[in-house]
Amino acid sequence: MARHTGAVCRLCRRERTKLFLKGHKCDTPACPLERRPYPPGIHGRGRIRESEYLLQLREKQKARRIYGVFERQFRKLYQEAARQPGITGENLLRFLELRLDNVVFRAGFASSRAQARQWVRHGHVLVNGKRVTIPSFRLRRGDVVEIAPKARSMIVLRHNLDTLDRAVPAWLERAGSDADAKVTVRDVPLRAQIDVPVREQLIVELYSK
Ligand code: SF4
Repeated sequence: MARHTGAVCRLCRRERTKLFLKGHKCDTPACPLERRPYPPGIHGRGRIRESEYLLQLREKQKARRIYGVFERQFRKLYQEAARQPGITGENLLRFLELRLDNVVFRAGFASSRAQARQWVRHGHVLVNGKRVTIPSFRLRRGDVVEIAPKARSMIVLRHNLDTLDRAVPAWLERAGSDADAKVTVRDVPLRAQIDVPVREQLIVELYSK
């Protein structure tokens, strides 16, 4: 699976907003965006000519980077979202939220989507009792996602559960005796329940040109 292997903090600086790609570091003063809140590179502090296209492009790049999706996959998702009934931009965000790696992150098991993706790839995540190793696997209402029994003692998981103070969104449910390793998709998320700083309408405008 293709993945971004460069410095991810540069991506936040390019978008001039925190994308929370590094887990614990993002909430500390060590976050590079705190000290250098301008785009990377020697022209980072130069004048940028604003345009409608630039705004749309940046919004699309931001969404891709938050969820860790590459261009081709993102465009396919957009095309699928456009075919569905409802508002295309909201459908697109809903598809992104329902990715397996995102749900492992949202549940508070992993500190970042990248970490969640690695766990999925390494076979540490079960869906309805079966191992699923595809990070983009789309979950449906009623699906149960859990950390595989062997992986529940991972120090990093215990550390995340102890230190991450992340509220689980209302469309997910972490309950029961093994709530620290299991989450249920109660419903598909509404736009109001998706707290990503993305103006999806601009993405739709970009792709529908
Ligand atoms: Fe972005 Fe986190 Fe790096 Fe800060 S520490 S720039 S929020 S990835």
